[in-house]
Amino acid sequence: MRCTGELSRCGSVIQAETNKNERAGMSTDIAALYNVSMRKALLLSWLPCCVACLSMTSIVQTEEVVYRIGLQDAHAQMVSIHIDLPAAGIERLEVLLPAWRPGRYEILDTVGGVRDVRASDPHGESLSIKKTAKATWVIAPNGAEVVHLGYRIYANSIGDRTRHADSTHAFLSGSSVFMYSPSMRNAPVRVHIDHAPEGWEVATGLRLLGNGDYFAANYDVLVDSPLEIGLHDRYEFRVADTDYEIVIWPPGIELDSGRLERDFTKIIEAQAAVFGEVPCSRYVFLTHVGVGGGGTEHLNSTIMQTSASALEASFSNDDPYKGFLGLVAHEFFHTWNVKQLRPAGLHPYDYERENYTDLLWVAEGGTSYYGRLSLVRAGLTKEKSYIDSIGRAVNSERTLPGARVQSLAASSFDAWTKFNKRSADDVNSEVSFYSKGALACLLLDLEVRRRTENRASLDTVMRDMYERFPLGGPGYTTDDLVATLERHSSSSFRRFFDDCIEGTQTLALEAALMTAGLELWFKPGEKLGEEPDVKPEAEAGGEADSVSEEDTKSPSSSQKVALKASLGVRLRSAGGGAIVQSVFSDGPAYKAGILAGDEIITLNRRRLRSGRLDKRLERMQPGDLVTLHLLRRDELLEIEVSLAGKPDGSWSVKRVDEPTDSQKAVYADWLGHPWPAPKEKTESIKDPR
Ligand SMILES: [Zn+2]
Repeated sequence: MRCTGELSRCGSVIQAETNKNERAGMSTDIAALYNVSMRKALLLSWLPCCVACLSMTSIVQTEEVVYRIGLQDAHAQMVSIHIDLPAAGIERLEVLLPAWRPGRYEILDTVGGVRDVRASDPHGESLSIKKTAKATWVIAPNGAEVVHLGYRIYANSIGDRTRHADSTHAFLSGSSVFMYSPSMRNAPVRVHIDHAPEGWEVATGLRLLGNGDYFAANYDVLVDSPLEIGLHDRYEFRVADTDYEIVIWPPGIELDSGRLERDFTKIIEAQAAVFGEVPCSRYVFLTHVGVGGGGTEHLNSTIMQTSASALEASFSNDDPYKGFLGLVAHEFFHTWNVKQLRPAGLHPYDYERENYTDLLWVAEGGTSYYGRLSLVRAGLTKEKSYIDSIGRAVNSERTLPGARVQSLAASSFDAWTKFNKRSADDVNSEVSFYSKGALACLLLDLEVRRRTENRASLDTVMRDMYERFPLGGPGYTTDDLVATLERHSSSSFRRFFDDCIEGTQTLALEAALMTAGLELWFKPGEKLGEEPDVKPEAEAGGEADSVSEEDTKSPSSSQKVALKASLGVRLRSAGGGAIVQSVFSDGPAYKAGILAGDEIITLNRRRLRSGRLDKRLERMQPGDLVTLHLLRRDELLEIEVSLAGKPDGSWSVKRVDEPTDSQKAVYADWLGHPWPAPKEKTESIKDPR
């Protein structure tokens, strides 16, 4: 029975690689994957599964790099790593630890937790090892055929989803744990786990070998396949040709596993329909509970963070659970968008320094767009709710000064130094490649449908790109994307890219939305508030609640809208006090010299409590002079500010009253549901909620 199981598992993995390699040319990709000759690659692609496994074993024995994970001190958050590096004929062996991890475009202090780095030969004799840079060491093998590199890792960084260990588990994301030699990056890898406490199990996208070790085709696969080792709950299911696992640490979280399986299946099917396939035969949803929020995509797995209450809400299908499904949908869509279809600048990964691309607005923004859209298509988000969310996103894009300062291309390129390094001035200088990128993809989707009378869409473009730019190739550029859009729409998109992607022009969504029977309008007198910047990659821990109070651009010259008094600040609450979080560069507070971090004590000599600013300003008029008392560090300041006026209302999206047949057809094809029948629409209007 055991042998059969191994063969079955092996067979499915080989099949997965075959699926992927069919897109790139099977033999060359297998050669690259396993670092073998073309002749061996052809043999591997031809031989029956069990024989192919034997061939793999012989390759592994001669060329592999072996990583041994020691968990004897996991309870003290210390993990031992021993690496066997083949060193025959090598006089100078350089090893290093990556400076960042795929999925988060930020230089990390990964080496800060490294302890006791040492090297020896197979006889245990110490070898010379010298640190030459922040995370680089050079070893003199001194004739040894194999070099043993050993060190310990302090694993206490669960918030950034890199490495964490305690008495219940060890979570290890490869780029923050495993050193490598650049000269052996393409060598096959075997992972052996030692001293795991009794009862601990392993969950990972890596392939399980017959001897209990794990196999990675090369270092890139190793670091894109995190390991969750320990006590956890595991739920397994199958959709089409792929096996799925939901793994939840810590164990014992109460949830409706039947609903999870049904809802995950709907998401998988809705997203697979865009591309026509799932590019792996096995996929693992790793989930950490109670350690923050967010997620990171990996090759055939993801690591997500959520709360116990969100999973418990699966019994009632309430909002916290729906929020978790949003994270699932975002991370799973990355399986195609960025893990396979990758911008040229992100391939291959340069683990020592930043990989620059001006296309994160597609890699992340496109994933945000399709994550939410797939929930609608899967029937897990109501159409009305999704349409309302478009209005809120437009409101942000047309409100924040930063959207007029930084382009989507620049936001993508500067992710390393700006987006992932938050500051109080971001609202004035930056735009989110997540939220505005998603809005740009919405516009492209509906614009392609408008220009082609719904014969093509962004789905068509993404699938075409996925098929023409397989992983292992050069990746796609902005010109490739423009050319693909133009080929499928028989029209030019260059002006749009110049103005709205390379430039900072407002996204003109009106005509595109109207194609699907949706009207973008400025809704007077009901402030919806700014949509939080949805960033699945956001740091754990969360930010303090904030209330926004900011200027809004004039909606249109033809629409008369009342103005209301504005101070031009965003506040956050701290101990009941109103702390200035951001000062908008086009508002009166900015001109008056109010700074982020100031605490507003009084407005017109009366105490200002957190969350009450909008209410207090309701009774005032643009042009009114107000007196503020601020606490800046230990100093009390008195500042007079002349209030500005801003349009009283917010951007909103609604279905038109009398859609054409064409609009109904686009709506149904885009959202996966028919235009609501008149009766349903009447009922929804009566519903005050
Ligand atoms: Zn993402």
